[in-house]
Amino acid sequence: MNKKISRVWICIILFLRLTAATAQTPVFTHQDTLRGTITKERIWWDLTYYHLNINVNPGDSTIKGENLIQYRVLETGQLLQVDLQPPMEITKVIQDNSSLTFNRDGNAFFIELTKPQNPNDINEVIVFYQGQPKVSVRPPWQGGLTWEKDANGKDFVVTTCQGDGASLWWPNKDHPYDEPDSMLISVTVPDHLFDVSNGRLRRIDQNSDHTKTFHWFVSNPINNYGVNINIADYVHFTDKYQGENGELDCDYYVLRDNLEKAKKHFKEANRMLEAFEHWFGPYPFYEDGYKLVEVPYPGMEHQSSVTYGNGYKNGYGGRDVSHTGWGFKFDFIIVHESGHEWFANSITNRDAADMWIHESFTAYSENLFLNYFYGQEACNEYVIGTRENIRNDRPIIGIYNVNYPGSGDMYYKGANVLHTLRQIVNDDKKWRDILRGINKTFYHQTVTAIQIEDYLSEHTGINLAAFFDQYLRDNRIPILEYIIRDNKFRYRWNNCVRRFNMKLKVYFDQTDQWLNPTTRWQEIDSPSSFIKFQVDPNFYVASFNLVGEVKE
Ligand SMILES: [Zn+2]
Repeated sequence: MNKKISRVWICIILFLRLTAATAQTPVFTHQDTLRGTITKERIWWDLTYYHLNINVNPGDSTIKGENLIQYRVLETGQLLQVDLQPPMEITKVIQDNSSLTFNRDGNAFFIELTKPQNPNDINEVIVFYQGQPKVSVRPPWQGGLTWEKDANGKDFVVTTCQGDGASLWWPNKDHPYDEPDSMLISVTVPDHLFDVSNGRLRRIDQNSDHTKTFHWFVSNPINNYGVNINIADYVHFTDKYQGENGELDCDYYVLRDNLEKAKKHFKEANRMLEAFEHWFGPYPFYEDGYKLVEVPYPGMEHQSSVTYGNGYKNGYGGRDVSHTGWGFKFDFIIVHESGHEWFANSITNRDAADMWIHESFTAYSENLFLNYFYGQEACNEYVIGTRENIRNDRPIIGIYNVNYPGSGDMYYKGANVLHTLRQIVNDDKKWRDILRGINKTFYHQTVTAIQIEDYLSEHTGINLAAFFDQYLRDNRIPILEYIIRDNKFRYRWNNCVRRFNMKLKVYFDQTDQWLNPTTRWQEIDSPSSFIKFQVDPNFYVASFNLVGEVKE
């Protein structure tokens, strides 16, 4: 290879290295920090109530209105951060009838309050805004408005904003740590259309200008990205579910042409409620009811108004995410998105880096649903089948304070981690008590990963620190290395974090045995004659016979 060519090669290799390095280390901006941090302009006030009051005009794809933000002063502060993303504009802010000055820094607005803010005061600011919000190209994976028409040519308008943030279409404190205690959502639309938002429909006003205003009240804390509007020519039917906390109102809103299909298919929601109340405890929003609302995208966990677009079919978009056949036994969207009522809506991450609390438990809920109706074997086969979707590309926990979730492995690796933990606990009654206990202890709260991990360590009676460091903060799969020689079975963990010490069930032929491997070699007498050694496949680990299958 001549010098010129070799230099080119070096450049290419260097380039590849550099691009690989930058792919691993995301670059964060000042805007990411403003969005993802509990800034000093956020920390001094605690949200108590929102009244979002907007006019949605499908004719020119605009939203115009205001959000009343009520808060309790925790400590003195005169600068208040509210988030709203371009191209939306704040036009005016008032407190106690006086107009306030504000400055924009990208997606954040800093409002200068003139009235002294005294601790324990309950104050309000009203933020007026308008604009043509960003249109979503790929809902729900990319946030924005979707302006569509149904088969009869009627407007079909919905919002999705997980990840991108609710500030994409309305002004709010766009950080998950703080939620209002309640919220009123008033939406004005042309009077031949119907708006469905979160909570309960309090009232519909007929206005003189051929519009109607729908007032939806949410009587529980709600996360920002859970707030949604769905506007269409909806028809409505109801059901009641006799659950652990009494009678739960179930309300279903679907496109006119799908009413008969929906009446049959949405019975699935009763099965979902039965299974999840068994495993997790009472549905967390009896006061607000449970709803399914048809949308033109697959679905989203909008609190107490779960959105549905799975075509009234089992599976997920016609597929089974586990490739085992079990995924066709239920409607993935009804089960998964409703599972989020417990994990995401009731128990919410305080920082996007801990989004595994939403997705790992909810992906795990899919196999608990199967467990409840089809038994242990179905549950095991399903969760093991979903391993095909795992990438092990980067850790499940993301980066804190910059609105950066971890790997997509928070879904199916997360589900397998929880399934593995269930094996370690090895006591299904205790495991169910723990899942219900988490829901009771952290009911309607925003939490950190550490709070959930500590709860699990305490209530399993096992120090799980290294277990969670391995599976949430590292992307490697632990390997059980072993050697069988002279009737001795030697084993250790490798490819793992320091002090990784997860116990493990293995089989010598049909005989099961528990091992307590650490990163140091240990040995036991191996059974005198056996043909096959196997790690229990319910554990998400790898195993490796260091000297191959040769026996003396
Ligand atoms: Zn999910």
